[in-house]
Amino acid sequence: MNNTMQTVMDRGEESLLKTYNRFPVVFERGEGVYLYDSNEKKYLDFGAGIAVFALGYGNESYNQALKDQIDRIIHTSNLYYNRPAVDAAETIVKSTGMAKVFFTNSGTEAIEGALKVARKYAWLKDPSKDYEFIAMNHSFHGRSQGALSVTGNAHYQDGFVPVPLRAVFADFNNLDDVKAKITDKTCGIICEVVQGEGGIYPADKEFLEGLRKICDDKDILLIFDEIQCGMGRCGSMYAHELYGVKPDVLTLAKALGCGIPVGAFVTNEKASHALVPGDHGTTYGGNPLACAAVNEVYSLFEKERIVDHVKEVGQVLFDRLESLKDRYSCIKDHRGLGLMQGLELDRPVAGIVKAALEKGLILISAGANTIRFVPPLIIQEEHIEEMIKILEEIIADL
Ligand SMILES: *Cc1c(COP(=O)(O)O)cnc(C)c1O
Repeated sequence: MNNTMQTVMDRGEESLLKTYNRFPVVFERGEGVYLYDSNEKKYLDFGAGIAVFALGYGNESYNQALKDQIDRIIHTSNLYYNRPAVDAAETIVKSTGMAKVFFTNSGTEAIEGALKVARKYAWLKDPSKDYEFIAMNHSFHGRSQGALSVTGNAHYQDGFVPVPLRAVFADFNNLDDVKAKITDKTCGIICEVVQGEGGIYPADKEFLEGLRKICDDKDILLIFDEIQCGMGRCGSMYAHELYGVKPDVLTLAKALGCGIPVGAFVTNEKASHALVPGDHGTTYGGNPLACAAVNEVYSLFEKERIVDHVKEVGQVLFDRLESLKDRYSCIKDHRGLGLMQGLELDRPVAGIVKAALEKGLILISAGANTIRFVPPLIIQEEHIEEMIKILEEIIADL
């Protein structure tokens, strides 16, 4: 290993708080769907910075839009209006068919905001109760204490979220379980449309329809977390469109800015009145640079017909992984939609992910036993063949 790369890693271990076991690589630059490390070794990227870099690396038009915005103005705060934020909000309202947008700096903060909307909506009707959420087992919504409270993974919660502050957890895709747990203290139901970190589990249509009905009947809010599965990843602009079920609050992040940190929670008409001036805020959220990124992302999605492309190549990826599953008995299951797919093995996949990295292929896991495929959305069929070839070498060797 080249000294420079090793030196950076050593210095990182010295100065960065150790909350990650990082892979031993330093990426210096990217081109399309490839990344290059300090030694100019080339990697095919099927992780996209955890489902973020949808447009691939070095998209000229995207980079230019950011440079232009940097030269104009980067930040002003939310005490004033800024044109890129207004443009981006209008675009998102139009694209989602919802009513209002609040910009955040991350997915976690989008979740925090969404939870506040649902609590306040219930509180305005009856301030006498201590409200709670129903969330799903094996869900992931972020690492702040609020987002963790609805994240169905005790490993992430323990030591950080006292038990009484945790949501009530139900089994994903089990409507009876949700119904059994609803009380007059429930102020909202939150779920991912496709569970990401939990292992790539798409929701069932009947499940989402059932959640919608429960929330309508009880006049509580339904929150869909599309931070990972939204923005074209599943072969429609938003994953819930594939189901024909609309949330009251939608959360977006990851590919929303394609690398510039930005998230959003989006409210429908009835949820738009819960928060009033003074109820919520952020210094950076929706600043001109972040929103210039959002505007360019939506514009490029349209110009480059990204969603149609995902439908096509998503099917290719599906067929190739399905064929792999048929040929290797260590592959237990294959799940997913569009370019968000997972292969579940009969063993932990950490070794496969590591071996792939050595062979110049970036894969990420979702849970211990599932390989997650979330490449840049501009991926082509030839890249899928290249990935399958490397992966098959590794799996055949097991
Ligand atoms: C990544 C993710 C989050 C958290 O987003 P951050 O930007 O890391 O704060 C929340 N929900 C889902 C479904 C995610 O995939």
